[in-house]
Amino acid sequence: MARYVFITGGVVSSLGKGLASAALGALLQARGFSVRLRKLDPYLNVDPGTMSPFEHGEVFVTDDGAETDLDLGHYERFTGVAARNTDSVSSGRIYSRVLEKERRGDYLGKTIQVIPHVTNEIKDFLRIGADEVDFMLCEIGGTVGDIEGLPFFEAIRQFAQDRPRGECIFMHLTLLPWLAASGELKTKPTQHSVKELRSIGIAPDILVCRSEKLIPQKEREKLALFCNVRPDSVIAAYDLKSIYEAPLAYHREGLDQAVLDAFNISPAPRPNLTRWEDVHDRILNPEGEVRIAIVGKYTQLEDAYKSIAEALTHGGMANRVKVRIEWVDAELFERGDAAASLEGFHAILVPGGFGERGTEGKIKAAEYARTRKIPYLGICLGMQMAVIEAARHLAGLPEAGSEEFDHEAGKKRFTPVVYHLKEWVQGNHTVARRLDDNKGGTMRLGAYTAHLAEGSKVAQIYGTTVIEERHRHRYEVDLTYRAALEAKGMKFSGMSPDGRLPEIIEVEDHPWFIGVQFHPELKSKPFDPHPLFKDFVRAAKEVSRLV
Ligand code: GLN
Repeated sequence: MARYVFITGGVVSSLGKGLASAALGALLQARGFSVRLRKLDPYLNVDPGTMSPFEHGEVFVTDDGAETDLDLGHYERFTGVAARNTDSVSSGRIYSRVLEKERRGDYLGKTIQVIPHVTNEIKDFLRIGADEVDFMLCEIGGTVGDIEGLPFFEAIRQFAQDRPRGECIFMHLTLLPWLAASGELKTKPTQHSVKELRSIGIAPDILVCRSEKLIPQKEREKLALFCNVRPDSVIAAYDLKSIYEAPLAYHREGLDQAVLDAFNISPAPRPNLTRWEDVHDRILNPEGEVRIAIVGKYTQLEDAYKSIAEALTHGGMANRVKVRIEWVDAELFERGDAAASLEGFHAILVPGGFGERGTEGKIKAAEYARTRKIPYLGICLGMQMAVIEAARHLAGLPEAGSEEFDHEAGKKRFTPVVYHLKEWVQGNHTVARRLDDNKGGTMRLGAYTAHLAEGSKVAQIYGTTVIEERHRHRYEVDLTYRAALEAKGMKFSGMSPDGRLPEIIEVEDHPWFIGVQFHPELKSKPFDPHPLFKDFVRAAKEVSRLV
């Protein structure tokens, strides 16, 4: 059975627990161990699928169709291990399971309580797949002391207690604030946070301390003494230029060694870090720069398009260029001229999104890229907008629109080039949907196969004609207009295996214009950049050389 590392946070949120967990996963792999990472989120939403990207960042979709926290994206990008539905859970999901069982009569005669019913449900979740890997890394969202988090902390305490000694360890991430006035790093908040943790029965084995300044030996010893950890288990986490430096930086600070020591694994296998040395070299030593505009709606919060930004960075690494991403609010040129906002970019990306706001701007961005022959990558909504643009301006359908928008804007006249998907094939069965279905978890979600046309640009880019990519959408491009669009050079070069759902469009006589109904960004890794992003950045690099 796997050894468990539980990762908790204290003092403040957003300290990079997800990144620390992911980097630790990568380091354990570098030492030859197999790992799986998991996230336990205390909020009451059943999953983040219904949360605004403004509030919670992007929704990361797994192959098996779960809508999960964006930290699962970090885990995949650092370890290459595909996350599953069973790698993410929230209080909402735990409670709804407990209540379902209560209604079914599973606990007949009993009073249902947080301990043991909720905590048992959490422990059952933690045990899933424990026989498959050497290490299971489980991150608890939020910070110690949050009311919502308590059942999770109690469950991991019990879990460690239930297992043989030495099979579970606790790693706690905190912040050492720097007081400029006195020129000191302060350890007191960390001491308090550990005290809080110990008051609920958890003694950390490893302390990871975020700090903007070098942590002097004296402070490390003080932390070790007051927080009851060994001095070499106080690990410094300094600010980095790129997140992809994290595995090497944590290794230098001794994190993986401290974890192996805590489990008494000796002698520790030597790490092979060549993958991360190469990543490090590519990220820190680019030979040029390209400027790419992301024309979207959620541009105030970069986390809303986390995986896209990362996938572009990976594409840059493959081409040895730095990708300078600029976020352009699609509403800016809804009415005005797109050129004023988009001039000078080497490529344009229109990402996924929901709802009508900003879509006329995205349509203009697609038109600008198509007519000016600037590389364009449209993802999900970005593909739908490119099709609507071509339908309006090339295929003689001036009122082309999407059913998604008509519902919001009332009854305006339009030609539904993009329609609400009512059924599709998944494996060997048909999935049916209605407009008034629940919103949570009812999109076309997860990995689906697509067949690429022989000789198409995408077949050349992927180097194959059968691909599998992750989806998250409710609407779909209508095949009714395929012939009219293809006659004008917009080819439907990727289709679902049954030939009913367009998956990819590409424009002929254009250096690089591709729209995809799926989310390629979710599968890109720094050490294995996604072929579409790699080639998109290559095309941008070519444009940058011309100007
Ligand atoms: N809103 C669109 C749909 O549901 C696009 C979704 C997306 O971009 N992920 O089809």
